[in-house]
Amino acid sequence: MRIASIDHSALLNKLKVKGKVYRQIKAWLKAGVIDNEVFSKTNQGTPQGGVISPLLANIALHGLDEHLMLFARNSKGWKYKSGVLMGRRDREQSLTFIRYADDFVVLHNSKDVILECKNIISEWLKGIGLELKPSKTRMTHTLLNEESEDGKAGFDFLGFHIQQYEAGIHNDSLSQKGKHHGFKSLITPSRKALTKHQASIKAAIKEHEKSPQAALILKLNPIIQGWTNYYRFSDVKTTGILSKQKDLTHWKLRRWGVRRCESDQKSVNNYFHKDKSKRWVFSTREGNTSLKLINYCDTHCSSTEYVKVKGTRSPYDGEWLYWCSRMGNYSGISPSVATLLKKQKGKCAHCGQYFRENDVMEIDHIIPKSQEGSNKYDNRQLLHGHCHDSKTAQDNKTLADSKLKAKQLRDNIEQRWLDGETNFTEEEKVILNEILQKRYEGLEPTEAFYDHTTIGKRKKSPKGSKTSKEKQPKARKPKRYIKGRRIKTQEAPKVAR
Ligand SMILES: [Zn+2]
Repeated sequence: MRIASIDHSALLNKLKVKGKVYRQIKAWLKAGVIDNEVFSKTNQGTPQGGVISPLLANIALHGLDEHLMLFARNSKGWKYKSGVLMGRRDREQSLTFIRYADDFVVLHNSKDVILECKNIISEWLKGIGLELKPSKTRMTHTLLNEESEDGKAGFDFLGFHIQQYEAGIHNDSLSQKGKHHGFKSLITPSRKALTKHQASIKAAIKEHEKSPQAALILKLNPIIQGWTNYYRFSDVKTTGILSKQKDLTHWKLRRWGVRRCESDQKSVNNYFHKDKSKRWVFSTREGNTSLKLINYCDTHCSSTEYVKVKGTRSPYDGEWLYWCSRMGNYSGISPSVATLLKKQKGKCAHCGQYFRENDVMEIDHIIPKSQEGSNKYDNRQLLHGHCHDSKTAQDNKTLADSKLKAKQLRDNIEQRWLDGETNFTEEEKVILNEILQKRYEGLEPTEAFYDHTTIGKRKKSPKGSKTSKEKQPKARKPKRYIKGRRIKTQEAPKVAR
């Protein structure tokens, strides 16, 4: 359904603004249109094609959805397919209203309800001086041709075509209870959108008839990228539309090449090259820096992955928590917090609860930085303030425990060594080596073993000593020991050799 024209005074009344803003909007409305160098006054309707018209449409149609929901809530006699009467909540849920600027769709499984809705919308629009445009208002069934006004099932909305098709039990969609519907819903680009896209490709190629190949690729890539991104939440891949678009573009480019080289073979040799996966790609020749045309089929598409914006949320409502979790960015929120929020889907990684508006949020390192944890996103998580405290306490406890355990192990090994045991596992040998390096000045395990009986008591390592011998000199400049021999200083520990 679409709106024909907007009555200015009714719109201005709805705005409820005064003074400067009122005068400015009034001026916009009266601005007039220059079409084909002919000026025409706009006493009715918004300036078409201007930036302002979707905004004015939004203002004019604001509240229509609530009006329809009110109608669903208060009406009586709506029935399920089985003939049972619907409850209030189900009545509201069964009616769907989707609007984008002045374009909107009303969905319901009963034709009578749709007819009633049409009347209600018409009346509501009259209140603000609007009317439905008959040429752009259509009543249709999504599955059955014969149920539709013009004999064609399905409808177009925002460049998409939505239609249901009969399907066997292996292909059809399932109901929430797991029953076979006998049909499947497909969301594809509308016929108009497909033609329009190929027309824009054609225009770009025509414009670059005599330009270098690189310029043409740079022109085409954003067009293809933008188009595939727009349709990434649709069945554009499974229905083979992407590969068809790819083929159509490919043949246009072959023709472009032939025009320049006067031979198809030459055109292929000059402008198409094999990529790493040995596919022929429209690309420039130079080695690693070569420019390539984006492949339509490389886009990931799925009609079921899209997550609907909840209820009446809007990016301008200040619900930063919701929008951060959904989009991974919001103005005024640091990018790292926003990224982590999105990654964690708005939940605390420690307690699993959702963050709320006024919660303290802190970034935590999963492996603490004190234990050489990195500062990368993999090692970061967002926690509640109190969860962060308990996690840090836990980290410190495990760290202290592991240190204690390591110390006990070291002591045990050293004691066994001092007791004359030689039977050590590989792991223990490594630890023993470290102990010897630290405490016994790097004696070989065997050598030290034979010597330890003469050393008797173990030497205490001076403070700040390092494990490796080579690193020692600076820290221990007044060496107390040289290869185990005692140099007489006052602080020297009691060691006999
Ligand atoms: Zn928490």
